[in-house]
Amino acid sequence: MMSSASEERLRASRELGLGLFLALLMAVLVAQLFSLQVVQHRRFLAKSLGNMIQAIPMLPPRGQILDRAGRPLAVNRLNYTLRYFPPPGDPETDGTLRQLAQWLRVSPEGLADSVRKQRKLLYSFQPVTLATALTLEQVAYIEENRQQFPGCLVDSSNAARHYPLGAAAAHLVGYTALMSEEEFRARKLLGYLANEFVGKEGVEKYYEGLLHGALGERDIEVDRDRCFKRVVLERPPTKGRDIYLTIDSRLQVLAFQALEGRRGAVIVMCPRTGEVLALASSPSYDPNRFRAEDGSEYLSRVVNDQRFPMLNRAVGNGYPPGSVVKPAVMMGALEMGAASANSTFYCAGKLEVGNRSFNCWQRAGHGTVGVVDAIGKSCDVAFYHLGLRMGAANLRHFLYEFGFGEVAGIDLPQEAEGLVPSPEWKRRHYSGERYREVDRRWYDGDTANLAIGQGYLLATPLQVLMMVNTIAADGITARPTLLKGLDEAGRIEPPHRDPPLRHGFRDGHLRLVQRGMRRAALLGGTAETLAGLRVSVAGKTGTAEVWRGEPHSWFAGYFPANDPQVSLVVFVENGGSSATTAVPAAKQLIAGIARVLEL
Ligand SMILES: [Zn+2]
Repeated sequence: MMSSASEERLRASRELGLGLFLALLMAVLVAQLFSLQVVQHRRFLAKSLGNMIQAIPMLPPRGQILDRAGRPLAVNRLNYTLRYFPPPGDPETDGTLRQLAQWLRVSPEGLADSVRKQRKLLYSFQPVTLATALTLEQVAYIEENRQQFPGCLVDSSNAARHYPLGAAAAHLVGYTALMSEEEFRARKLLGYLANEFVGKEGVEKYYEGLLHGALGERDIEVDRDRCFKRVVLERPPTKGRDIYLTIDSRLQVLAFQALEGRRGAVIVMCPRTGEVLALASSPSYDPNRFRAEDGSEYLSRVVNDQRFPMLNRAVGNGYPPGSVVKPAVMMGALEMGAASANSTFYCAGKLEVGNRSFNCWQRAGHGTVGVVDAIGKSCDVAFYHLGLRMGAANLRHFLYEFGFGEVAGIDLPQEAEGLVPSPEWKRRHYSGERYREVDRRWYDGDTANLAIGQGYLLATPLQVLMMVNTIAADGITARPTLLKGLDEAGRIEPPHRDPPLRHGFRDGHLRLVQRGMRRAALLGGTAETLAGLRVSVAGKTGTAEVWRGEPHSWFAGYFPANDPQVSLVVFVENGGSSATTAVPAAKQLIAGIARVLEL
């Protein structure tokens, strides 16, 4: 039971609280009444003199984009502009303008000429621009000496977006640009002005709604001649929200460097949380250059580049994955009973399927391999057998279970679905007159090809990494995310996240596949060079044959092998065999990540 003394205190504090609340309410009401009266009075006065109030919208500062530790990824470089409402008449005879010219250290004739030119383009009640990029000292001087310079305003809404990581994070962060007419029509009702910049790619585009903020307004009194008198009221704009990404800038730079300018992508994640630590695509472009003097020339060069630097290869396109999908196929085979811990496969270097011979990448053959070695040595013949035992429908089922064939739901625009082919798909795809019935039919060979990630299967690097995450996190898939949280008075306010997906795979099956992936990174495995690293790695390689050019080079894995903290995928388009390109790049990257994160 509560003592009477504490009841007393509680009552007293409640009364105090109520008293404070009422006092605050009164203060707010008085303040509102006051501002209403003052503003109304000014309006009335203005009207009585035949003057008018002109509302001029003020652009909101855009929210900043920061990495998980608050390091800047997209920030506003404040740009203070000096604007001026010139009185009617010849600017040459304007005393204030003369004074301003002297203060700005420019020729009075030149400034007057500029005012004359701008006036022709602007409505009479709009201010002309006298100077941009004012220093803070200049801004302070103008603000403190308003009387001396009637008609002057400092405008800070013209901020320039700056991307400290430049090309290394271009596909991830995106960039802003002026809206097209069509975009403006769609956004007009959301409170946008025609001359505003909006997010065009990446996070800038996906989180436009959070980053934008709300317009403010400056009511200006103009006289009969529509000449500026003074500012009546300023309702400042609401700044957009600052957002924290899950990205670690240090790893982002390492990821981009690992690609060395080749066509490809690297993603680094926390396998259990789905948080993306780095996401890089190459070749890239520098979004800072779009606003430079030769910006439009640079943009058209980027857009017309035959290597498609604008394409986000990490999520925006599906590629043949090859053997890198074998862990998913083996999990499926174990779950449906097409393989077990004791299964063995005999590889003579090739397998006859129908009337065709299907080769193992190891032409000499692997001899007898078990489940772990089938993954670790990436034996194609073992997987032809598994695919044929499972059948196309079951194979497809498990590829979908691991996220292939549909978007992973990352918070980036334009995520590609990839493709998990089916007999129906093949029939539709080859329905044209150029094809015959034999082209449309689904063969056992198609199933065998699908089991080694070849044929028609297409996957994004993100989908391949999501498969690895599911295995590393013991059969749990957390949705991929870039948003750590919103800035809430200096704290990070975490967003709502969907609960992770639980697949219900058997523990024993997960252990077998995990051992297979560990095997790949040990001596005799397809990624054996990773055995030289200080940290223990588990992973899978892929060398995917393509219609034209060198095969695609893949590596996807996680580390430390017994306690997965980090997962990664390295994809190099037409990079050749995994051993010559993706694995060495992954090795360098893993060493770098382990050093930075002290793993
Ligand atoms: Zn083999």
